[in-house]
Amino acid sequence: MSRVAIVTGGGRGIGAATAKKLAADGMAVAVVDLDESTAGETADAIKQAGGTVIAVGADVSDAAQVAAAVERVAAELGAPTVLVNNAGVLRDNLLFKMSDDDWETVMSVHLRGAFLFSRAVQKHMVDAGYGRIVSLSSTSALGNRGQANYATAKAGLQGFTKTLAIELGRFGITANAVAPGFIATDMTQATAKRVGVDWDDFVKNAVSQIPVGRAGAPEDVANTVSFLVSEGAGFVSGQVIYVAGGPRA
Ligand code: NAD
Repeated sequence: MSRVAIVTGGGRGIGAATAKKLAADGMAVAVVDLDESTAGETADAIKQAGGTVIAVGADVSDAAQVAAAVERVAAELGAPTVLVNNAGVLRDNLLFKMSDDDWETVMSVHLRGAFLFSRAVQKHMVDAGYGRIVSLSSTSALGNRGQANYATAKAGLQGFTKTLAIELGRFGITANAVAPGFIATDMTQATAKRVGVDWDDFVKNAVSQIPVGRAGAPEDVANTVSFLVSEGAGFVSGQVIYVAGGPRA
């Protein structure tokens, strides 16, 4: 049976790779991003590969936009029963320099965004007696210098995930979190730029700490999400899977 999946922040990076993978798995995919044209780039690639897809512009932290996005997905593709809460931003700063806005923005996108989307899709999942929710956490949930806001949000998503698993399990819905380590994307490139380190040196330094001896790719995360949202993963719920090339950050 073909499922309808929503991938937030699907315009690039991990979200784009995940949207493409779920489409290749046979799902109809709604690619959500801040700007519909960014989402459209991923959607075009999926279309070219023969997939069923729509691009939806929405800010995940805005309740009205989230409600409208989910309604549009349900009307155009059918009831969404797979949700990947992937949209994310960084506002890194040491605590003494972290502004109120740095804190609020990160909480809004990661935590409020995952809350709003999960709440909006759960009714479709409950009606279907089936659902899969995966939220993107991070190894930063274990603590990371300069990321008091982000580490808090990513740890928060783990508690959110475990609670959804407990509340929604009886409706055939699972909730899990994927916690990537170092993945080469625009997000990590922006971090290298911010700290003034050449990208190749930045990658080399990260890789020196990674047991499998390479940087992660968006597809590494997409493959893990693909398993967790599959029919066969129905007895895996409330888990946090670290996708970090080793046991630690
Ligand atoms: P990215 O910056 O390359 O992509 C993030 C996407 O989210 C962008 O397309 C952006 O436009 C979108 N987005 C941002 N705010 C949004 C909003 N309010 N509403 C809708 N869309 C919004 O990031 P990435 O590296 O692909 O990361 C994806 C997820 O994985 C994030 O949650 C991130 O925190 C997490 N993560 C990334 C890494 C890594 O090393 N790259 C590691 C651990 C966790």
